[in-house]
Amino acid sequence: MENEYDIIIVGCGPAGMTAAIYAKRAGMKCLILEKLSPGGQIMITPMVENYTGFSKIDGFSLGQKMFEQVKAFGIDVEFCEVHNIELDGKLKKVKTGAKTYVAPVVVLAMGAASRTLGTQEDKKFVGKGLSYCTVCDGAFFKDKKVAIVGGGNTALEDIAYIYNIAKEVVHINRRSEFRADDKNIQEYQKLLKQKNSKIIPKYGYVVEKLCGEKKLESIDIKNLKDGTTENIKLDGLFVAIGRVPQTEILDKELDLDENGYIIVDEHMKTSIDGVYACGDITHKSLRQIATAVGDGSIAGTYASLYVKKIKAEK
Ligand code: NAP
Repeated sequence: MENEYDIIIVGCGPAGMTAAIYAKRAGMKCLILEKLSPGGQIMITPMVENYTGFSKIDGFSLGQKMFEQVKAFGIDVEFCEVHNIELDGKLKKVKTGAKTYVAPVVVLAMGAASRTLGTQEDKKFVGKGLSYCTVCDGAFFKDKKVAIVGGGNTALEDIAYIYNIAKEVVHINRRSEFRADDKNIQEYQKLLKQKNSKIIPKYGYVVEKLCGEKKLESIDIKNLKDGTTENIKLDGLFVAIGRVPQTEILDKELDLDENGYIIVDEHMKTSIDGVYACGDITHKSLRQIATAVGDGSIAGTYASLYVKKIKAEK
């Protein structure tokens, strides 16, 4: 059958691409489905310096290199949105708008999407001053005033990136501690201590309201200690408050942790036979390119062994 594969991998980030490379080398007929562009989250990562073998490389270039390798192996890749995955039965069904692909094994590598602020105005201002990606949109704010929300690695790296572009950077974090690596905290503190630093720290605050007519003009932030609010005029707002796993297209509930991440065993197998998961969508303690690639290699290997086992049983 034209749309029948041994393994279908949903998601073309580092985890999905690595799973595909391992599966292809194990002799599998495999397909990657991706709704956007290859690379996933790393495509919007300003600089990577903790992926072994690359002292310093921008995320876009690293993603391109990974994708070149996928293409060199002759792995099928389709760019289309998956609307539904039926995980029950011997043949899993992966449905896009136009087609249904089937395979005995599916590898879920859809990653996680940016968490939104949850204000009533979130949708109104996306692309009109509100962004989730400094690499994509930072250049629009040259010599302008921006705010960055969050205290994790993404937020601190975003601040380091936009610092040389923007005129002022308001940093809004709900705590005065950061959930980031020491290296990123040190770089951030260096910028903060610079003479006439562009960073205006607002710790212990959350964003409560986005204001503006056609585009974002200001935000209301709330002091979590005393409940008072303050209005800050700005040109751009970058939100980097973590990520949420992309599991909504699954038709059947897999075992998930309390935050919605998929629970896998040491072979990256989920609670359903023939369904594997890898990368940021899984329950894990460290979400990195290196760990996504590691997960992908395990998922690709054990998914292939499973296909071989069921073929031998036929
Ligand atoms: P993260 O590590 O989950 O940090 C999220 C930040 O946003 C935290 O400061 C959190 O505050 C805050 N936050 C969460 N929900 C919020 C809300 N509703 N309102 C206000 N603030 C909120 O997320 P991330 O920085 O996007 O990173 C995601 C994963 O990728 C992490 O595992 C990270 O280590 C990894 N990553 C690694 C690198 C690197 O190694 N170079 C770079 C980027 C990302 P609390 O701390 O108070 O919860």
